Amino acid sequence: MKLLVIGCGGVATVAIHKCCQNPLFTEICIASRTQSKCDALVEKLKDKTSAKLTTATVDADSFDSLVALMKEFKPHTVLNVALPYQDLTIMDACLEAGANYVDTANYEAEDTDDPEWRAIYEKRCKEKGFTAYFDYSWQWAYMDKFKEKGLTALLGTGFDPGVTSVFTAYALKHYFDEIHYIDILDCNGGDHGYPFATNFNPEINLREVSANGSYWEDGKWVETEPMEIKREYNFEGVGMKDMYLLHHEEIESLAKNIPNVKRIRFFMTFGQSYLMHMNCLQNVGMLSTTPVMFEGREIVPIKFLKALLPDPASLGPRTVGKTNIGCIFTGIKDGKEKTIYIYNVCDHQECYKETGAQAVSYTTGVPAMIGTALVASGEWSKAGVYNVEEFDPDPYMDMLGKYGLPWVVDENPVTVE
Ligand code: NDP
Repeated sequence: MKLLVIGCGGVATVAIHKCCQNPLFTEICIASRTQSKCDALVEKLKDKTSAKLTTATVDADSFDSLVALMKEFKPHTVLNVALPYQDLTIMDACLEAGANYVDTANYEAEDTDDPEWRAIYEKRCKEKGFTAYFDYSWQWAYMDKFKEKGLTALLGTGFDPGVTSVFTAYALKHYFDEIHYIDILDCNGGDHGYPFATNFNPEINLREVSANGSYWEDGKWVETEPMEIKREYNFEGVGMKDMYLLHHEEIESLAKNIPNVKRIRFFMTFGQSYLMHMNCLQNVGMLSTTPVMFEGREIVPIKFLKALLPDPASLGPRTVGKTNIGCIFTGIKDGKEKTIYIYNVCDHQECYKETGAQAVSYTTGVPAMIGTALVASGEWSKAGVYNVEEFDPDPYMDMLGKYGLPWVVDENPVTVE
């Protein structure tokens, strides 16, 4: 099976390592903006896999550049692990070239000052009640186009979204008649030794974290100020951590796809040093995406900041500790209320030894490969655009264990107030 991977950053590095371990993928073309990164990865992997590996340069913002590459390589499936800005262009190119599409993050506009985008965004904020710059409406709108072409688009197969949504489908299938409350807890107990760095693309990460929080309750969105809701939780493998309520993309798809759900919240842990730096950078305007003139040339503050911060892909060797990500579900089984917690604990140094990347890239890259493999093998193929919780979770859960992300079901967990 021919796979085209677009992007060659932290997540892609892990996804490609894992694709090389899966005999389903016989030919893999790695294409990104900087071809030298793709070539360096092929050098590392070529003697460890039977897959034929090639590389290419592609500008994923250019439909023509993507279509030319896809028509030449003829992939069965395209795994998009570039940035959310490129989602729609890559989906358009897949439709044109006849390839299935897989990604790990929903569409986000790069230029949030574009008046055409802003008009649609502001209408959506009013109608739906949340102000995040990203939402699924753009990609869900491709449903009929993928159906007409008989192609599958699988959205959001990272860890969160991705595994957290598959955990939900699995809990509903095996443990509950109805799920009423979902708390998604994302804990990174890793320490990279820098006062401030982001574990994945800084632009995407900082935009997400500095935005308003929100959660789904009784059929509608409830918005909060950034970091307004704080809780403490004692995470297996990590210990006690502060965590904060954020808006997160899987809340939107789970609210649509899980019948009778009453509340969905997402919490992420942050240390005081991270929050202090982020607040300071925001207060001085360094998180802005609006270009400013500096010494005669235009610069985008957050892009300049990205150039100064450590490259997330370089954090692997220095990060120690564990991540713990999972979901606490409360619902009804046979008329009785019950609660379970499904989670994975992952060790940064073990991930680094295996793939050269830290656990945040690892916990995203492994599920990216699994979703791609299920689409490619036909087990998860259905013409149209779907989120991962809309498929049978069992083969995905089996592969999580097999490819390095074993999970635990705790049937008597501590809940979050
Ligand atoms: P990186 O910034 O490390 O890598 C992005 C890659 O995309 C780089 O190789 C970059 O090329 C390439 N790229 C960017 N723009 C273009 C373009 N126009 N054309 C071609 N290639 C391009 O990001 P990560 O690996 O950390 O993240 C990848 C994706 O995974 C993101 O969408 C992120 O939101 C998502 N993610 C999802 C998570 C989940 O759990 N669902 C968790 C973490 C991340 P270059 O090297 O030239 O810059």
